This record gives sequence, C-alpha cells and structure tokens, in this order.
Amino acid sequence: MWTKEELDRYARHIILPGVGGAGQARLRQSAVLVVGAGGLGAPALLYLAAAGVGRLGVVEMDRVELSNLQRQVLYDTSVLGQPKAEVAQARLQSLNPHVQVEVYNRRLEANNARKTLQPYDLVLDCSDNFPTRYLVNDACVLLGKPLVYGAIHQFEGQLSLFHYQGGPCYRCLYPTPPAPGSVPSCAEAGVFGVLPGVVGSLMAAEALKVLLGLGETLSGRLLLYDGLSAQFRNLRFRRRPDCPVCGEHPSVTTLQNYEEGCGISS
Ligand SMILES: [Zn+2]
Repeated sequence: MWTKEELDRYARHIILPGVGGAGQARLRQSAVLVVGAGGLGAPALLYLAAAGVGRLGVVEMDRVELSNLQRQVLYDTSVLGQPKAEVAQARLQSLNPHVQVEVYNRRLEANNARKTLQPYDLVLDCSDNFPTRYLVNDACVLLGKPLVYGAIHQFEGQLSLFHYQGGPCYRCLYPTPPAPGSVPSCAEAGVFGVLPGVVGSLMAAEALKVLLGLGETLSGRLLLYDGLSAQFRNLRFRRRPDCPVCGEHPSVTTLQNYEEGCGISS
C-alpha cells in the first residue's frame, strides 16, 4: 500500500500511461547498482532515486574534488574532500527517504564483482575506465543481468543496453580492452560539463524503461550523441557468435582484472 506522502510524491508517474500504480510498485520492488558516482552516475542516481527505485547500490571509492563540481551534480562545495559514496548516500536519501541506498566504498574487482552485483536486477556502468567496463560487462553476462552502458569523451557520448533479452553485450561491440595508455583520460582530454548530464540522464531513462517494460530499448543499438553538432545517431549491432564472453564458445568464463589503462572518462 502507498502512503499519502508516496501518492503525492509519485503522482506524475501514477497518472502516466504505461506506468500507473502497478509500474510505480515495480520500481519500488527493483534494485539497481550504479558503478561509479561521477559525471554519469550523478544524474543517473538522482533520477533513479527521485523515480522511487526501491534499492540503489553505489560503487565509488573517490573523494569529492573541486575539479569534479563542473559536472558531478550530486556534490557541492561544502563536501569537498569527503567520500563520494557517503555524500551520495546522504543526498539520495534526502531526495527520497523511501529509497534504500547501499554504498560500496571500494573499487570493483574480479574478486568482489559477483558478490557486489548479485543482489541487483540491473546494473549501470557509469565508470570511467576500461578495466572496470570489461569487468562489469563480463560479470553481467556471467550473472545474467542487463547492463546499461554509457561513456563520454570531450563533447561526445555514447550509450547502450547490453545483455538484455538475448541481445548483444559490450564485447560484441568491442571484443578486447584497448592497450593501456592508448586512450586519453578525462583529466588529459577534458570534458564538456553538461555532457555527462545528457548521457547519464539517458542511461537512467533506459534503466527505468527496462524496469517498467516500456517502449523500445537500446538493446542492439549504440546511441551516439555529438554535443557540438547537437546530433544523435544510432548504430545498430548484433550479438557476435564469436563474442569472447556471450558467444557460442566463450573464452571468458571467469572474471579477471585488466591492466589499468586510461579510459573514455566521466
Ligand atoms: Zn557479447
């Protein structure tokens, strides 16, 4: 049953065709893990909490730095130096006290990924490096969980939905990690501050659509956003029979840590 407060809080969802009280109840029963509470994770977490997703997990081990505030809208000047995971938890809990927020103030690694992902229905990869991206993808395939992926670089972003209802995974697009050092980091390349807001919000939209069973998802489509030309493009791709993790004869059957390189950053 809903309290009067919840009915008021979720009123715009409850009257929305395709959501209603039943959809809102589905959100309340759902659990979503967000890996990374930086540029992409900040808007994604805010919208998922606001929408009433019952349980949110946050994996993040960094502390808030001044250079984060240009784009990481979960944080403000008063929390500089504090652990992002704890600040995020307090902020999300204050936004919506009905949401249970669990924080993991550590790096996701091969030896803890399964345990961390297991209690969640859906995962958002809001990380900023390739080792985490491959690890999260492989863990989602091995555990059978859908994965909303997003990445940004300077003025451009991309997102997709992986391993959903038999659809392709990240490795179907990019089979193996790039050589360490071959891709510039966020600090080296710069990032347009609003860009993670656009891509992170779209990731939250995909997550909510999957949880609600609404609309047409990004499974099998990579959505590319160019902030300078204000254009979106769709790149269609399929599941590869020779994919190293979701293919017919997978070579990746256990989780492993990849060498820390630089990544498309948030
Ligand atoms: Zn695959």
